[in-house]
Amino acid sequence: MRKTTRISSVVAILTLALTTALAVSAIAVPPVAQAQTVAGNTQNSSSAALLPAPSIDLTTVDDEGNTSIVLTDLQESLSPATGDLTDGEIASLLYMREEEKLAKDVYLTLYDQWGVRVFQNIANSEQTHMDAVKSLLDFYRLEDPAAGSAVGEFANADLQALYDQLIAQGAQSLGDALKVGAAIEEIDILDLEENLAEVESANIRTVYENLLKGSRNHLRSFTSTLSRQTGEVYEPQYMQDAAYQAIVGSTQETGGRGNGGNRNRS
Ligand code: ZN
Ligand code: ZN
Repeated sequence: MRKTTRISSVVAILTLALTTALAVSAIAVPPVAQAQTVAGNTQNSSSAALLPAPSIDLTTVDDEGNTSIVLTDLQESLSPATGDLTDGEIASLLYMREEEKLAKDVYLTLYDQWGVRVFQNIANSEQTHMDAVKSLLDFYRLEDPAAGSAVGEFANADLQALYDQLIAQGAQSLGDALKVGAAIEEIDILDLEENLAEVESANIRTVYENLLKGSRNHLRSFTSTLSRQTGEVYEPQYMQDAAYQAIVGSTQETGGRGNGGNRNRS
């Protein structure tokens, strides 16, 4: 798809999404149904497949889309009947634990720098994402790679390099900082999807599906904050166009518990 086409279709979708959100703000409508309506012009039913709801929903979502994991619900959902993890599943957990830390640490640092609330709020949600993966590490008696590490410190060299790069980028302007936020959520979505394609453990899958939903909401928050603060339309840096637009062209997904029907966006 050409760049100009992409921008104008994003604008069209955003406008349509806003109109739809305003029109239905008083009624609770299942997010998937809205996604189909909004993206229906160009993507038909494929958008539903791009927004997979968690099979067990452990999230609570506030009216700004900050998506946290309810740890007590997670504990209750863990099945002790499942067997040992594979080496790949263990590696995946260690990586995701630090990737969620990367999100939290970057947002905390950018909040200190720019004082924009979205960073603080999403950092709070990321703490619960880190905690969710930690619950799995504890459940399977695995060592925590993030134990005792300070903000901005990572055991994984790739994540350390990514952190350093994103912090430098986010220091340039508020717009750059918000784009860094969106980029992290894009990376998170792609990594979670890749891991879900490999991981068989039901316990891990449940957590990843919930983290994925959180990242979709956070991607919506950062991109809409960017356009509100700078007038700029975010262009996906890592995701495929169709997958990206299915997310930002639909409204925030609500929580499995807590504020489930609260769609007050004013
Ligand atoms: Zn997260
Ligand atoms: Zn996030």
